[in-house]
Parts: sequence; C-alpha cells; structure tokens
Amino acid sequence: MAGTEQDQVSGKPHVVVIGGGIAGLAAAFRLRNEPVRVTVLEASSRLGGKLSVSEVAGVAVDEGAESLYANRRRTTGLIADAGLGEKIMSAGVTASAIWTRGEIRQQPDRQFMGVPCDMDDLARSGVVSAEGVERARQDLVLPSFDRDGDVSVADYVGGRFGQEVVDRLVEPFLAGVFSGRAADLSFEATLTPLAKAARTHVSLADAAGSLTPVLAEGQKPPPVRVATLDGGFGSLPPVLVREVLAAAPDASGAPTPPSGSSPGARAAGG
Ligand SMILES: Cc1cc2nc3c(=O)[nH]c(=O)nc-3n(C[C@H](O)[C@H](O)[C@H](O)COP(=O)(O)OP(=O)(O)OC[C@H]3O[C@@H](n4cnc5c(N)ncnc54)[C@H](O)[C@@H]3O)c2cc1C
Repeated sequence: MAGTEQDQVSGKPHVVVIGGGIAGLAAAFRLRNEPVRVTVLEASSRLGGKLSVSEVAGVAVDEGAESLYANRRRTTGLIADAGLGEKIMSAGVTASAIWTRGEIRQQPDRQFMGVPCDMDDLARSGVVSAEGVERARQDLVLPSFDRDGDVSVADYVGGRFGQEVVDRLVEPFLAGVFSGRAADLSFEATLTPLAKAARTHVSLADAAGSLTPVLAEGQKPPPVRVATLDGGFGSLPPVLVREVLAAAPDASGAPTPPSGSSPGARAAGG
C-alpha cells in the first residue's frame, strides 16, 4: 500500500492501495467510512487476487484459498463486517496429522505453523527422529541470527532447528497453505508474526512459544477451527468491492468485478 497525499480536489488525504487482492480490498473496506479518498490499483484483469471462485457442475469451487482459521478474529471480523457472518461454515473439528517415519503421527501440541515451541513435546510427537530432535535442541543455544533483508523459511527455520524439522513439520504445513516449497517461501511474508517475534527472541522455539498459548500439564491445545464461506471463500472480494463503492457516492474509475475480464482493474471512492 502506498502512502497518502492530500487530494487537490476534495482536500481529503488520498490513499492509494496497490494491489486489489484480499489485503488491498480489506484495507479499502476498512477505510470506506473514513474521511479519505481511496484508490485501489490492480494490475490484473480482476480484483480478488488469490481469492477467486468459479462454478464447476453448478457448484461454487474455490480456485485459490478455500479455508480460514475461524479462531482468527481479524478474518471473521472482516467477514462479519461485510455482512457475510451467517455464511461462515465450519469444516468440523478434527486434528491434522502427518504421515512420517512409517506412520501417522500427531503434530506437537505446541507449535506455530509447524514451528515447534517445546523440544520435549517435539520428541514425544515422534514426527522427527531422535537425531532430528537433538539438532532441533541446538536452537536453544545457537547465537542470534542476523537477518538483513528477507530469507526463505527453509533457510531460517532450517538454520535454527535443522532440515528435518523443515521437511517433516514446517513444509507439510506451509505447502498446504501457500502451495509452495519452504525453500522458495519468504519467512517474512508467510510466517509474519513469527518473523517479527524472532527479532526479539534469540531462540526460534521461544519466539514461537510467545505466539502460542501455554498449556497446563496434560492439557491439549484448543482445536483449530477451519471454516469457509457458503458460496466459496472467493465470494468475499466482490462483496468488499460492492461495499467500498456503496460507501462512496462519487465513486469514479472503472471498477471491474472479480469475475471481469478487462485488463487493469481500478476502483476509486471516498
Ligand atoms: C492455491 C492457493 C491456496 C491457498 N489456500 C489458502 C487457504 O486455504 N487459506 C488461507 O488463509 N490462505 C491460503 N492461501 C494463501 C492466500 O490466498 C494468500 O495469502 C492471500 O490471498 C494473499 O492476499 P494478498 O492480497 O496479500 O495477495 P494477492 O492475493 O496475491 O493479491 C495481490 C494483488 O496485487 C496485484 N498486484 C501485484 N503487484 C501489483 C502492482 N505493482 N500494481 C498493481 N497491482 C499489483 C496482483 O495482481 C494481485 O491481484 C492460498 C494460496 C494459494 C496460491
């Protein structure tokens, strides 16, 4: 998102949002009732970015992201504020597990996106070998890693815990969410809260622990509630676009709905 400048016609600050994916649309939506003029610039032919839905045999099927963590209030709050709260559908409560080292194994109880917080817990899970646990324990004694710019998830997490934790825990998790390899995914962009916490904790396990509820002896973590929207997660962007434009009676430009096909979508309002 670009910075603001004073709009010469209206006198209001002018906010230019670069990219009409869910992040840009959420920003425009949050600003829709503020005393600012908002312009969303989108390079592609449609708004919505990785959120997109199309019909297959009469059924709405997501082409990109299809699920959300219902525990995350920021996401569910956005959906509710857009008037779609009733459409949140839970996938039911279940536990994810990993097929590794010859059997299906539960993930460690305390972890952040696959990054373990507690080495004894990691050992109990059996997800990595005894040698893998020993290597992971080095995270607790290794000096702080200087991070000048971005690094890949594999480089940072592997450097702290060893490759086995990346291969058997983190990669399965991230590949499912971001459809990419840990060696190609940005640590800052995909594990953003952890990357931030890692700047104030030497140990990455401690950084992950600062983002994860502490469990009493024998207590299990609260279930992760995975949900989607009736009509597809991809049905959210068009609603945000509609609400942004509705809040701007003098909306101008050429808003292209997410199903549109003309190049360079642009929506302006405020
Ligand atoms: C196949 C797949 C499945 C996924 N599944 C899930 C899931 O189930 N749950 C989940 O939470 N996450 C999932 N994700 C991740 C999630 O989709 C993304 O994290 C999220 O949609 C990113 O939103 P964004 O707005 O930051 O970026 P994007 O959706 O990438 O949007 C960025 C927009 O900016 C535009 N743009 C880029 N550069 C410029 C420029 N210079 N000028 C103008 N416009 C520009 C792009 O064209 C694009 O429309 C999945 C991702 C993929 C690929």
